[in-house]
Amino acid sequence: MLRINDILDKVQSYLSTSETGMIEKAYIFSASVHQGQVRLSGEPYLTHPMEVCGILADMKLDAATLVTGLLHDTVEDTLATQEQIEDAFGKEVAFLVDGLTKISKITLGNQEERQAENFRKMILAMSSDIRILLVRLADRVHNMRTLEFQAPDRQLYIAKETLELYAPLANRLGINWMKMELEDLSFRYLDYDAYNDLARRVVKKKDKRDEYTEEVRGIINREMDHLGIKAEVEGRAKHFYSIYKKMKEQHINFDEVYDLTAFRIILDSDKEKDCYEALSVVHALWKPVPGRFKDYIAMPKANHYQSLHTTVIGPYGERVEIQIRTRAMHEWAEEGIASHWRYKEGRAFSSSDEDQIKILRDLLDVQQEIENPREFMSNLKVALFPEEVYVFTPHGDVKSFPKGATPIDFAYSIHTDIGNKCIGAKVNRNIVPLKYQLQNGDTVEIITQSGHHPSKDWLKFVVTSRAMAKIRNWVKTEERVKSVALGKDLLEKEFRKHHLKFGNFTKSKEMDDILAECHVDALEDLMAVVGYGRVSPKHVVHQFLPEEIKKEETVGKTLKKGEKAEPFGVSLTGIDDVMVRYAGCCDPIPGDEIIGYISRGRGVIVHTANCQRVRDMDTERLVDVQWDIREKRDYLVQIRVICNDKKGILADLSAAISTLDVNITRADTHTDQDGKATCDFSINVSDLDQFNRVIAAVRKVRGVVSVQRLLRA
Ligand code: MN
Repeated sequence: MLRINDILDKVQSYLSTSETGMIEKAYIFSASVHQGQVRLSGEPYLTHPMEVCGILADMKLDAATLVTGLLHDTVEDTLATQEQIEDAFGKEVAFLVDGLTKISKITLGNQEERQAENFRKMILAMSSDIRILLVRLADRVHNMRTLEFQAPDRQLYIAKETLELYAPLANRLGINWMKMELEDLSFRYLDYDAYNDLARRVVKKKDKRDEYTEEVRGIINREMDHLGIKAEVEGRAKHFYSIYKKMKEQHINFDEVYDLTAFRIILDSDKEKDCYEALSVVHALWKPVPGRFKDYIAMPKANHYQSLHTTVIGPYGERVEIQIRTRAMHEWAEEGIASHWRYKEGRAFSSSDEDQIKILRDLLDVQQEIENPREFMSNLKVALFPEEVYVFTPHGDVKSFPKGATPIDFAYSIHTDIGNKCIGAKVNRNIVPLKYQLQNGDTVEIITQSGHHPSKDWLKFVVTSRAMAKIRNWVKTEERVKSVALGKDLLEKEFRKHHLKFGNFTKSKEMDDILAECHVDALEDLMAVVGYGRVSPKHVVHQFLPEEIKKEETVGKTLKKGEKAEPFGVSLTGIDDVMVRYAGCCDPIPGDEIIGYISRGRGVIVHTANCQRVRDMDTERLVDVQWDIREKRDYLVQIRVICNDKKGILADLSAAISTLDVNITRADTHTDQDGKATCDFSINVSDLDQFNRVIAAVRKVRGVVSVQRLLRA
């Protein structure tokens, strides 16, 4: 069992006296709050935080990280509080411990829901300080080392989680030893037979391997000495899981795995070119296997790993895998991001965000030059610029949302009813506005009130499609209720105008005809379409008027029943008899691409498809409309001509327009200071073709600088 003195021994070379004092203090604190707790192994609970701290000390991490290692389970598992930690150890440690407490609360839900990728992202996002992640990983390493004391189903669960989540995390952070240890430990529990078999075979071959390893090392060393290259040569057995993976991936059995040993040449020099020189030495000694050379120096791996890899046909025709790297590259390869977090002489580790972001950003910069850095980028992005936020329900379940999500999004994610009745929210026990943007780690509680309704304004700030759909749906239903009421009102008024009572006709042959004509099933639907403006109340009442009045009202129109009405030259797919008006803002003319907007009670308003105003409109109310011209008529449109202010130009312009048989209804002219004149014309055209001819003709007039169609404000 690791003792406090062992830890102090590990750190005294690089921490100050006050920092080691802090570690002793954390030890005493941890010991007192964990007092009486026992691990499944039967050992005092304290052994766990001690071991975790020891792992972090071996990684030479800073004092705050080590103190956090000792305290990482105190808030979660003992009576100690966040406030106590802050009082005794300061804000930095309290922040780190809080991060760990939050991560430990993350529950995966059931096996099916489990998505390692999401979970990994979540943990990255929750680890606003990378040291939180390092402590979490050290925690997992020790838990895996003592996994034998867990029940078999827990063993499988934890091992699977480790293999799917924590080993890849260690790999992403470049901490190779940790990745290997976590993989081998997981492998052992997940497939004990395969692990055992492999371990036995590797051991069986061990003596022979050691002999061979020594021989290869000797040859390389000699050659390097000879050429005056200072380097250390290591030969190490590959870890079991990588051998296992290779056998699986390449469908080979153990005896076919040649390179059980990996050699490393670690150069004293820190120059990249010396690595290539060492490579040429190796290739001069033994023939390289084609296709096995990889230059991770020129093209670093996604996790920033750099090395030259080659496989050669070594002594006795055996394949030998060799990695060549500088000392700095080696340090990164073994410890990855942790090597950046190491305590540096004369500079206590700074926890400032800028530092971390800078390091991560440096990483990203390097990444941009790599061919396929997408994966690592997206992972680091999560840590740096999280696009998702993870929040807790009051029960401690985790929910993820897109960045910018609000308590309303949260409420709808729980239940439609909770969303609809949401009147307020508490985040971390404080009341927040409904517009509040959720932050990682927030605990969110929704306040509801029965009888309360969603507001259309919510659509302006919710971000999840679920919330949007639910609010829209409610608004739609609400609008229908309003439309029905409005339609009823309009119909009653229109009937009264003709001294009729709407209520008397609701069950009549004529009404049935009207319903059929308007393609609706029930009276309420008719009221709704009248309310929406799709059918005019006049049209309805018309059916009930005595024949002679009917005739009078339809002077000039000889529509027979069932014949399609001529709705101002515009038709809507599937809907007849629509009240149509042209928008005053964009003056659509036949030939323009158009779109209809269903106004409330004022029919369909036709705009040009690219009208600025349409962009701001409720897309739910936009409908496709087509030009349906049966009779020529004139449409008003305005143009603005900018020209040189010379005598007679207005006359020239008018003449050009008039010769096309186009009527000018209005002309405004004014002169600018720079000698240019602006002339606005209102003209009547029958369609876009004619309009374009006008534009072309005006353009040809001498002195004209530009012509454009004008939108009314
Ligand atoms: Mn722990």
